[in-house]
Amino acid sequence: MNIYGFTFSMLEKYLLNKEIKTSKVAFIAKSLYRYPILSFDDMNDVNKEIKSMLNTNFEISLLETAEICESEDSIKVLFKLPDSNVIEAVLMRQNYGNTLCISTQVGCNMGCSFCQSGRQKKTRNLETWEMTAQVVSIQKKLSIKISNVVLMGMGEPFDNYDNVMNFISILNNPYMLALGKNHISVSTCGIVPKIYDYISHPDCCLLAVSLHAPDDALRSKIMPINKVYPVNELMKAIDAYTSAVNKKVFLEYVMIHEVNDTVECALELANLIKDRRCHVNLIPYNETQNTDFSKSSHDSIMKFYDILKKNDIPVTMRKVFGSSSNAACGQLRANYKSNYQAPSALST
Ligand code: SAH
Repeated sequence: MNIYGFTFSMLEKYLLNKEIKTSKVAFIAKSLYRYPILSFDDMNDVNKEIKSMLNTNFEISLLETAEICESEDSIKVLFKLPDSNVIEAVLMRQNYGNTLCISTQVGCNMGCSFCQSGRQKKTRNLETWEMTAQVVSIQKKLSIKISNVVLMGMGEPFDNYDNVMNFISILNNPYMLALGKNHISVSTCGIVPKIYDYISHPDCCLLAVSLHAPDDALRSKIMPINKVYPVNELMKAIDAYTSAVNKKVFLEYVMIHEVNDTVECALELANLIKDRRCHVNLIPYNETQNTDFSKSSHDSIMKFYDILKKNDIPVTMRKVFGSSSNAACGQLRANYKSNYQAPSALST
């Protein structure tokens, strides 16, 4: 049992059984997260008996770094998990703080046709501690404070719902990583029932939805999840989030050349969301080795942007972080695998 997988209330419950008071649990949580330690013996303000109880009952370990790749505005880190699988996290340095994009699964089963992770298939879900450790390891290794976390790396967060929600509780808890709800964002391809679960969860934070197409015909072609939860159902769930949580929803829209970047798509998108509280992020497509897709021209992105603006849709163009090092979803890991593993392992 790795202690970095325990939410505050799980830890409190476990330790109360061992007759440790909540005030001590707060000390323990603080030293795990504020002054990250690698051994319970290094804890301050905790007596020998408690240290020995923690040593007997918990493991405390972070993640091994397999590769770090640094560019002007981002640092991509490949972590090696205890079972030798690799996952990626990307740190983006922005003027409002450090944002970390973390992975939630090894691979992904959602099968989006333009995405590298979708082609790698899911090997397994990440444990809660493996998500927490991405944040804590990077804070510790680079001596920085992460101020925003986005669950937008490899994997579909809502296909690993329980572990993800425990991780969010650790991010949000004041004795743990202490990030406010507006600093934590979950991105989903649109697993509608899980959006409703998220809305009613006490740790519900920001929501981003990967839309990428304004209608069922096109969306089903590039995102198989749309055949299960079509656009109108997704929009109902988005409306439920905005009214219950009273926050806007971020719509991710990857601009793919002559697939979803036409004037017709822009007009259709504007019409779909004109009365909704949504903010569109246009993301330049990061070309991958294995797909037939290419990125939209600057001109088509600008046209698309202008149409949304003219229709009063809040829209921004996302800066591309780390494209030179293939940091889009799943790309870093795919490159690592092809460079470092025997060809027979590539199909996994
Ligand atoms: N499964 C979740 C989160 C992971 S993917 C989701 O679908 O939202 C994070 C984002 O990167 C998604 O919007 C995804 O569609 C996008 N993406 C995937 N491959 C990409 C690429 N090659 N270039 C740009 N964005 C990409």
